[in-house]
Amino acid sequence: MRYANNAEPVITLTSGPVNAYSEVLRALSRTVLYDYDPAFLAFYEKVVVKAQKAMRLSAPPVVLHGEPVLGLEAAAASLITPKDVVLNLASGVYGKGFGYWAKRYSPHLLEIEVPYNEAIDPKSVADMLKKHPEIAIVSVCHHDTPSGTINPINEIGALVSAHGGYLIVDAVSSFAGMNTHPDDCHADIYVTGAGKCLGAPPALTMLGVSDRAWDKMKANPAAPTASMLSILDWEHAWSSERPFPFTPSVAEMNGLDAALDLYLAEGPENVWARHALTAKATREGLRAMGLSLWAASEAIASPTTTAVRTPAGVDEKRLREEARHRYGVVFSSGRGETLGKLTRIGHMGPTAQPIYAVAALTAYGGALGALGHKVPVGKGIDAALAVIDADA
Ligand SMILES: *Cc1c(COP(=O)(O)O)cnc(C)c1O
Repeated sequence: MRYANNAEPVITLTSGPVNAYSEVLRALSRTVLYDYDPAFLAFYEKVVVKAQKAMRLSAPPVVLHGEPVLGLEAAAASLITPKDVVLNLASGVYGKGFGYWAKRYSPHLLEIEVPYNEAIDPKSVADMLKKHPEIAIVSVCHHDTPSGTINPINEIGALVSAHGGYLIVDAVSSFAGMNTHPDDCHADIYVTGAGKCLGAPPALTMLGVSDRAWDKMKANPAAPTASMLSILDWEHAWSSERPFPFTPSVAEMNGLDAALDLYLAEGPENVWARHALTAKATREGLRAMGLSLWAASEAIASPTTTAVRTPAGVDEKRLREEARHRYGVVFSSGRGETLGKLTRIGHMGPTAQPIYAVAALTAYGGALGALGHKVPVGKGIDAALAVIDADA
C-alpha cells in the first residue's frame, strides 16, 4: 500500500468537507480576538455584509455557528408550527431527511418522493399545491449531494410564491458553485454554509431569511430562543452595535472572510464556470470509459458533484479504498439509500479545477482495474481533455 490510512491523502476530491483554499487556511491562523473587542465587532459586521453581497440579499444573512445541519434543523424548529401543513420534496437522502425534522414540529406532512437518481418535477408540485390549498410550507433540497442531482428550485419557488406558501431551501452544496441565490427561488429560509463550494471548513451556516419568515418565526411561540437552535436570537447580531447571544466561532469567521473575498474577487460567474467545466469533463470522461452516471439525465447532473454508478459486481467501499491506497485520492461514498451504489467525485471550491477531473478519472479507473474491472482510462482522459480544451 503506497498511501497508508494513517497518512494524509494526496488529493481529496470529496463532496464535502473539502480542503480549504490556502488563503482560507492562512486566515484561520489570524489572532482569535475577544468577541466583544471593538475590532472583532466591526469585523463581524463586515463579514456578514460580504456574505450578504455574495448571497445577493437585500438584508444581512444570519450566521449560525455550527455546520449547516444546525441551520436546517433551526429552520424547521423556528418556522413550522403544529398547525402548518408542510409539503416536503424528496429526491434524495437530504430532502427525505428534512421531512423527519418537519414532522417533529407539525403532524401534517405531505411528501412528493421520486427515485433518488431523479429530480422533482415542478408540475407535480403545482398539482399538489392545487389539490391541497392548505399547504403552508414547502421544503426542498437544491442539490441532493448523496445523489449528485439538482432540483429546479427556481421553478418550484415561483409556484410556492404564487400559492402564498413559505419555502425552505437547502442550498448547502450548491450555493457558490452554481448560479443560485435566495431571491432567485423566492426562498423564505435559504440555508447554506461555508464548508462546500466556498472552500472553508465545515462549521458555519448562513441563512437568507425573508421579511415574512421573520414575522412568522416571531409569531411562533415555540420558535427556539435562548437556544443553540435559535434563529431569532441572531437577528441583530450582525450589527456591531448589538450583542451576540452566544460566543461566535471567531476563527471560523476569519476563514469565511477570506473565502468570501476569494469568491467575490474571482467573480461568481467565473467560479460557477469552473465548477461546471470540471463536472462536465468528469462526466464525459466517465462515459468514454463505459461507465454510467447515477443521475437519470445530464440535465439534472450537479456541477458540484459527479455521482458515478458502481459497476455490477464491484464493491464500492473497496473501490474507494483502492483509489486511496494506490493513488492517494479520496472520493465520497453514497449515503443512506445511495450507499454502496455510487461513488461521488466532488468539484467544490478549490477542487473545482478541470485538471482534477483528469486526476479523478485516473484514480477511479485505475482502482476499478485493480479490482478486476478493467476500463479504458486513456479514453476517459482524452474525452475529459477534449472538454477542457474546447473551453480554453
Ligand atoms: C453537506 C450538506 C449538508 C450539511 O450536512 P453535513 O452533516 O455536513 O453532511 C446539508 N445539506 C446538504 C445538501 C449537504 O450537502
